[in-house]
Amino acid sequence: MKAEIIAVGTELLLGQIVNTNAQFLSQELASLGIDVYFQTVVGDNMGRLCQAIRAAQSRADLLIFSGGIGPTQDDLTKEALASVLGRSLHYDRMAMDSLDRFFQGRGTPMTENNLRQALAIDGCTPLQNETGLAVGNAIEQNGKFYIVLPGPPKEMIPMVQNQAKTWILQHVLTHEKPIYSKMLKFAGIGESALETRVIDLIEQQSDPTVAPYAKESEVTLRLTTKADSESEAMAKLEGLEQEISSRFADHLYATEDVPIEKTIVDMLTERNLTVSCAESCTGGLLMQTITTIPGSAAVFHGGIVCYSNEMKEKLLNVPHDMLEGESAPGAVSAETAKVLAEQVRMIVDTDFGLSITGVAGPGYSERKPVGLVYIGISRRGKDTAVYELNLKGNRETIRMRSTKTILYHLWKLLKEIEGKA
Ligand code: ATP
Ligand code: MG
Repeated sequence: MKAEIIAVGTELLLGQIVNTNAQFLSQELASLGIDVYFQTVVGDNMGRLCQAIRAAQSRADLLIFSGGIGPTQDDLTKEALASVLGRSLHYDRMAMDSLDRFFQGRGTPMTENNLRQALAIDGCTPLQNETGLAVGNAIEQNGKFYIVLPGPPKEMIPMVQNQAKTWILQHVLTHEKPIYSKMLKFAGIGESALETRVIDLIEQQSDPTVAPYAKESEVTLRLTTKADSESEAMAKLEGLEQEISSRFADHLYATEDVPIEKTIVDMLTERNLTVSCAESCTGGLLMQTITTIPGSAAVFHGGIVCYSNEMKEKLLNVPHDMLEGESAPGAVSAETAKVLAEQVRMIVDTDFGLSITGVAGPGYSERKPVGLVYIGISRRGKDTAVYELNLKGNRETIRMRSTKTILYHLWKLLKEIEGKA
C-alpha cells in the first residue's frame, strides 16, 4: 500500500507557511504501515491540481489531500478531484446544518460562498469537521482511495484521528491485519550508538520490526507488528522488548512516547521527593523543561537563575575566590557546580538540588572551550555528584543537551531509590 500526500496551497509554494500537515500525515501513515513515496505541494490552480492528481494516481493507491476546501474561489480541491474522477458534487446535509447552526449562533447571515464548504463528491463518505466548517471527503474508485482534508491543522488533525484513520482501516487496509506499535525511549545514548547495539535485531527483522528515530537529545525505537488484536500484538512484541531492555537497562527510561522530564516528574512523585535548580548557562531551560509537565508542582519547588558571577555569589553563596582570581577554578568548574547544587538544595529546601554551569558559546569564556559544561546533583544526606560534559553543537544545542543530560543522570539516580509501595 503506497500513499501520496498532496498539500494544496499557493501559500506553501511561496514559503509563507510550512507544510506541517505533510509531516503529520506521513507520521500517521507510517504508524499504519503505509509507505509514503511522494509528498506533493501544488498551488491553488485547477489545471495544475488536476495534473498533480493524475501524477499521484499513477504511483500511489491512496491519495491524501490537505487544504483548499474552504469557502473562497481559490479553494478548488474537491472540484479538481471530482473532475478527475468524473463525478459530480452535491451539498452534504449534515455539513449544511452545521453551517446554519454556526451562522445562527453568530447572528450574521451566511454568505453564499460558505456553502462551498459543505460540498461533497458524489458517492463519498463525508468526514464531518468537529472544529471547523469544511466537510472532508473519503472515496474509493477503481481500487484507488482518496481522502480530502482541511488545511488548518486544528481541523485536519482531529479529522484524521477521529475519522480518516477509521476509514482507512475499514476501507483501505481491509485485507491487512492492523498494525500495532510500541515506542521505547532512551536517554544518555546517541542514535548511532543505539543502532549499532541493535543492528542484529534490525537486520534480521521481518515481523516485528524495529526502527530507530532520533529527535534532539532523545532516541526512540519503534517496535511494530501486525496482529489481529492488541493483546496478540503485545505478546509478539514482548520478547523483543525484553531483549532490548536487557541491552539498555541504563538508558531505556520509558515504554511509551514521553520525554524524560515526564518520567522524572512521575518518579519523584512516586517517591515523594522534591527538586530545585540553579542554572547558569541554561538560563532557566531546565526549570522550563520540568515545568512543562502537568503535575510538576508537586515535585519542583523553584530555583535560581544565576547568570552572572555576582549572582552566583550573592544568591547562592559561591565563594568569591572560587569564581575570580588567577588560580580560581572559575564559574565553569566542578567546584562551582557542586556549590550551586548544594546551595540551591538547602536554600529551597528540597531533596535534590540540580546545577548547570558551562560555556554555551559562541566563543570562549574564562579561556574555556565552547561546550564545556559542569552539572551537579546534590542529594540530601549524600555526596554531591558532579559531571563534566564536553558537548558539541551550537548555543541552542549545548543548552538543550546540558538540560537533557542532567535529567538523564537524575533518572539514573532515581532508579536506585525505591518508590512508595
Ligand atoms: P480555509 O477554510 O481556512 O480556507 P482550507 O481547507 O481551504 O481552509 P487552505 O485555505 O489551503 O485550507 O489553508 C488555510 C490555512 O490552513 C492556511 O492559511 C494555513 O494556516 C493552514 N494550512 C494549510 N495547509 C497547510 C499545511 N500543508 N501545513 C500546515 N498548515 C497548513
Ligand atoms: Mg482556503
